[in-house]
Amino acid sequence: MGIRAYLDWNATAPLRGEARDAMAAAMDVIGNPSSVHAEGRAARRLVEDARGQVAALVGADPRNVIFTSGGTEANALALTSGLRHGESGAPDRLLMSTIEHPSVRTGGRFPVSAQEDIPVTGAGIVDTDWLAHRLTRLAGSRPLASLMLANNETGVIQPVAAVAEVVHAHGGLMHVDAVQASGKIVCDINILMADLLTVSAHKLGGPKGIGALILAGESLHISDPLLRGGGQESGRRAGTENVLGIVGFGAAAQAAREALTDYAARMAAARDHLEARVREIAPETVIFGADAPRLPNTTLLAMPGIRAETALIALDLEGVAVSSGSACSSGKVAPSHVLAAMGVPSELALGAIRVSLGPITTDDEIEMFLKAWTKRVMGLSRAKRGLAA
Ligand code: PLP
Repeated sequence: MGIRAYLDWNATAPLRGEARDAMAAAMDVIGNPSSVHAEGRAARRLVEDARGQVAALVGADPRNVIFTSGGTEANALALTSGLRHGESGAPDRLLMSTIEHPSVRTGGRFPVSAQEDIPVTGAGIVDTDWLAHRLTRLAGSRPLASLMLANNETGVIQPVAAVAEVVHAHGGLMHVDAVQASGKIVCDINILMADLLTVSAHKLGGPKGIGALILAGESLHISDPLLRGGGQESGRRAGTENVLGIVGFGAAAQAAREALTDYAARMAAARDHLEARVREIAPETVIFGADAPRLPNTTLLAMPGIRAETALIALDLEGVAVSSGSACSSGKVAPSHVLAAMGVPSELALGAIRVSLGPITTDDEIEMFLKAWTKRVMGLSRAKRGLAA
């Protein structure tokens, strides 16, 4: 590959040096963390150190961190009527926003008849008033609400704590998918008032295939784990621990936490510059969620009349990696469910391109994107309107 600009950090982030080093050092630790001998205890130490690092990222008690194979599994583990909270009964209804990641939208282990959507506004923010009214009408039931902290496509940040307050006032539990937010903005389980929180290593510079479900306190139990067998993860997720993945996750979580203050300012400056330049190049460019609070590294934009899949290939040929906000399944490209939920017409939604930056994104990479955008996407646009390039 020649020189490339990787601007798809929300899909996955490159491995941080800290994670790479920690994993390389752990590679020769041969023990099983469940074994009682010295080799086993050495592996256990690595796992528990990493558990502490992940817990620190979200202000949790390490005992409440359950390692999983990633964000998808953590979401599946969280969404169950098998949750037990002190003396209160099990949740019997799942309310989830219409912009959740597909791993939440499937509803976990709740039957379809017990699932319900929470709408969002045109700005892509969950409708808290709607939820408050709905929960009042559902009095007597025990809801579990699931809301992401930041949306993976638009980057729009949700008023999670305000929603949690409403949910708790109605005797419910709150699950927060913080996969895109953690490592990018402050993500403290106590401040968010979340009962369960999902994180994933590969979005913050850890390895792929490792994540965690984090519980707010000792009084919350999962009576129906997804995987049963050995007693790993305190009986909440059986299977020999992915020691290398966990070690990499821990190191990445610590590095992300330490870099957080610097991250927001740098990312926002770079993203805002990119958006300003794109608007200069073509004032008709639409930026989704621009008026809402957003992750500092994310922009979702569309040039009216240009399909995202066409633009994506053109940009890739110029060495620029971005992604589209639309989903392709069985060969048919469908508009993003997030933009549909925000009321964006499907013709415009089909043009949505997500550009997401990271802490090592350079000015040159942003320039590469802007040049490629001007040459290819504007070229397509001009050609479509029948103008000479
Ligand atoms: N939740 C959100 C908001 C995501 O963006 C993703 C991944 O893109 C996931 C969950 C799934 O995480 P994982 O890839 O670790 O399964």
